[in-house]
Amino acid sequence: MPLHLYNTMSNQVEEFRPLRDNEVRMYACGPTVYDYGHIGNFRTFIAVDLLRRFLRQSGYRVHHVMNITDVDDKIIRNSARDGVTVQQYTAKFEKAFLEDAAMIGIEQPKLVRATEHITAMADFVAKLLDKGIAYRTEDGSYYFRIAKFPEYGKLSKKDFSGMLDGARVDVDEYDKDSARDFAVWKGPRQGEASWDTKVGPGRPGWHLECSVMSMQELGESFDLHAGGEDLVFPHHENEIAQSESLTGKPFAHFWFHARFLLVEGEKMSKSAGNFFTLRDLVLKGHKPSSLRYLLASVPYRNQLNFTFDGLKQAAVSVERLRNFRLRLGAGSFEAGSNPQMQTLASEAISKMRAALEDDLNTAQAQAAIFEMVRQANTALDSGALKKDDAVALIGALKKFDEVFAVLEDDDAPKMKKVLQWAQAERREYDITDSLREALQSGQLSDSDIESKISEMKAARTARDFKKSDAIRAELTEAGVLIEITKDGVRWRRK
Ligand code: AMP
Ligand code: ZN
Repeated sequence: MPLHLYNTMSNQVEEFRPLRDNEVRMYACGPTVYDYGHIGNFRTFIAVDLLRRFLRQSGYRVHHVMNITDVDDKIIRNSARDGVTVQQYTAKFEKAFLEDAAMIGIEQPKLVRATEHITAMADFVAKLLDKGIAYRTEDGSYYFRIAKFPEYGKLSKKDFSGMLDGARVDVDEYDKDSARDFAVWKGPRQGEASWDTKVGPGRPGWHLECSVMSMQELGESFDLHAGGEDLVFPHHENEIAQSESLTGKPFAHFWFHARFLLVEGEKMSKSAGNFFTLRDLVLKGHKPSSLRYLLASVPYRNQLNFTFDGLKQAAVSVERLRNFRLRLGAGSFEAGSNPQMQTLASEAISKMRAALEDDLNTAQAQAAIFEMVRQANTALDSGALKKDDAVALIGALKKFDEVFAVLEDDDAPKMKKVLQWAQAERREYDITDSLREALQSGQLSDSDIESKISEMKAARTARDFKKSDAIRAELTEAGVLIEITKDGVRWRRK
């Protein structure tokens, strides 16, 4: 089955076919860099990352562009408040965003910044003006006249038949029901960043930023445009209006929107005390891989309810996968293959594929790999697994990880960086004992420990007691207690 995705424009799951063979051009609305990113933001960015990775695994060349919104109302307000330039203000949060994205395994798209495209944005405004689609107001702002675009509302399915011609709104984000002419360019205001351009001084509106940069990078018509569900209206509706009324061509072919994340069943908000950045959670001792796994575990169109129990469960799942891979890598197996195990591996791969092709059903893809792990562990216990089977099963794990990216055991150094950041920011009070403990024994993660134990067992089998004693001493030193019983080796942390 070819890939099927839900298209917000048609309100249907459709077969995804790129406009050009073998090449996918996609644009995702990126962060507004006025603060640290929260888990809701990363829910959406991970959904897009999974899509990008799965497209690549499916053989497409993917051009993935993401903007960094570094001019908008909030940024201008905050930078003016702090007495710094817009660039000074946003540089810190852009850096933090890129570090956080890398920390949870998001592959970096091509980045475009609004402040680097001001001239092109002013040109766009001038063209809209020439066509009579935009008009200028006394304060030097320019507005898009939505009456000139009869299809306005086609993405959000809003009926604007009773709208008032000429009623205007000048803020970037506004009430869902207000259909108003919106600002494509905002005239200069006291204390705000402003650029001198052919349409006069001022700054671009947020919606215009994405229209200009996406078309510049990907062409007037491209395959897919993504963001969180809050962007459907007004942001994406306005991007469509500006772009299509100028070019006369369809803008994006597919509209991909991730459903908003809730925290313990509630809308996340600072005042409710349930607002978490990625860094907050790492400071509480949670691993980046658990966060990635959890944020990927609910298909993007279903509501993800973030809970701490779910996060702990995600950590267990990642550990189980890592341990399974270690078991396969460290074991010494009889030569040959067991047809049942070969079928198990190939079926797991086709089930994962089928699940992801079905509108990126990540939950089912994860279920398929766990079913494989469960059956293969049973075969391992009974000695039914042969050398070639280990290769096939590792191959299936690799396919899974090309999309989910949680197998590499690199949490400890990432967590250490967050700890160092908190120290540098004088936020020691946010560093929990759980993080310190995770890092102390975290010199060795669970999978490190399992792998050392496998080495120790192999040394004992080879009667190399000097080596096995040395490994045991190393583990004891790292705070891991080992018990060798007739049923095998057990361990726990001190
Ligand atoms: P912003 O930095 O506010 O421009 O948002 C960046 C991205 O995160 C956008 O695609 C938003 O739609 C998305 N987003 C914001 N809050 C949430 C949430 N609670 N759940 C999922 N996505 C979100
Ligand atoms: Zn955008």
